[in-house]
Amino acid sequence: MQTASNGSAPTASISEAALEVRPLIEGDLRDSTSEDLFEVVSPSTGEYLLSIPTGSQQDVDRAVASARTAFDDGRWCDAPPSFKKKTLHRFADLIAAEAPSLDALDAEEMGKPISLGFCNAAAAASLVHFYAEAIDKLSGDLFTSDLTNFVTQRRVPHGVVAAIVPWNFPSFNTVLKVAPALAAGNCVVLKPSELSSRSGLRIAQLALEAGLPQGVFNVVPGLGETVGQALGLHHDVDMLAFTGSSMVGKLMLQYAGQSNMKVVTAECGGKSPHIVFADGVDLDAAADGIAQLLLLNQGQVCSIGTRLLVQHDIEATLIEKVSSRLHNIVPGDALDPKTTFGPLVTAKQCAKVMQYIDTAPEQGAELVMGGGRLLTETGGYFVAPTVFRNVSPTAGIAQEEIFGPVLSVTSFKDTEEAIQLANSTQYGLASYVWTASLATSMKMAKGIRSSVFINACAMAGEGAGHALSSEPAGQSGLGTEGGLAGMESYMRRQLVGINHG
Ligand code: NAD
Repeated sequence: MQTASNGSAPTASISEAALEVRPLIEGDLRDSTSEDLFEVVSPSTGEYLLSIPTGSQQDVDRAVASARTAFDDGRWCDAPPSFKKKTLHRFADLIAAEAPSLDALDAEEMGKPISLGFCNAAAAASLVHFYAEAIDKLSGDLFTSDLTNFVTQRRVPHGVVAAIVPWNFPSFNTVLKVAPALAAGNCVVLKPSELSSRSGLRIAQLALEAGLPQGVFNVVPGLGETVGQALGLHHDVDMLAFTGSSMVGKLMLQYAGQSNMKVVTAECGGKSPHIVFADGVDLDAAADGIAQLLLLNQGQVCSIGTRLLVQHDIEATLIEKVSSRLHNIVPGDALDPKTTFGPLVTAKQCAKVMQYIDTAPEQGAELVMGGGRLLTETGGYFVAPTVFRNVSPTAGIAQEEIFGPVLSVTSFKDTEEAIQLANSTQYGLASYVWTASLATSMKMAKGIRSSVFINACAMAGEGAGHALSSEPAGQSGLGTEGGLAGMESYMRRQLVGINHG
């Protein structure tokens, strides 16, 4: 491990305009009708950071009414495509210009190091450009018919979309919902996570500055049980676009069933495996990928590989290679540019991760490295990268989403067993296969139900990264997100049949 970065002054600067957390409705910041406050604590220091309103049914009613009026009068969805494109491109430029400040807001509130480029505000800006360009790229269908009928299908926006997002990549997750929703012509009410409200709110202000008509993009900060539930059950919300845990994702389906059968997309949790074969694959490249992914955002990423399934013969060698790389971190305050490994998001999350670590040996797991807290003198919620071997596939650390830097190693003998183990949790988000054999690659891709990456960890970023879409399996959620197919999730197919005979 390299020297901790704490002690040097954080250098990131935050835009003054981004510091007020209040509902943004019909283009203006309003007072919440709730007088209750939720305290946000800095995960890097454990010190009080800010208070936000817990939010209320009335806040949600006002925001939904604002979005409904804006949708019904067509101020956005009926605007010329050229206007919509220019507005979203300007919006992207403003996000890019303020990206360092947005990253600093997120780092301060939820602990993602500002040095981490993955899914940061600059990436969010580039994603908005992608959807700006997509505005006139989706067309409808024309069906074969007879001489007297003309049968066609239009793609139309759902109407009012409630976007409910988590804290782990606040700016990027906001834009991943809001940009395709707007590009498809919808009006939006965003509910950021209570642990990271400011960047989403600031992003909505930048949209207004870019020329998005008032009322098209509203924000209601607050808690899940207040604002999230009120949006979920609202009869005037047409779609819930949710990202978060599988437990709350299931609530979204219940809310829809208890109210107006609104459309639900839910991108939820994961317990993704790396599967490494002893067939001559480059073990250094595999170890690089496994370690880098586990360290990303301190393991707080839905799709990271937290299970290492390794073929017997190379188990010891690979564990050694991965462990040596996991020591290579600079832990510290997320606002310090030198930090590569920040804190976990809250004291509660830190305690949860430590509980998994402390109880794993009771189920037979053997600690290889880590297993404790780091930098406790800072008051921050730092947990060391941790590896367990001999992990039973049915143990809690092999089955449940820990959301921390904890890797469980289990060995396998052949492809059949590897496929069975890969599919053996409730989740189905991503799998990473490391093999030198094309035949094994294809066999694994066909046998595993999640998205599969062969000798690679991610396709994020420009180009294919923005254009690709994915659909989770099992209890990792439902619905397509990303790319043009993801934009279609924000549209309905309306059939138009004309008898002209
Ligand atoms: P979470 O489910 O606790 O919260 C997500 C959002 O739902 C937050 O805005 C929260 O306030 C709201 N919420 C909480 N309880 C609610 C309720 N009762 N009713 C309505 N809304 C409620 O998740 P989190 O802790 O913010 O984020 C971590 C989770 O997100 C992990 O499980 C992770 O895997 C998942 N995630 C998934 C993806 C993906 O693309 N699949 C991406 C990022 C994060």
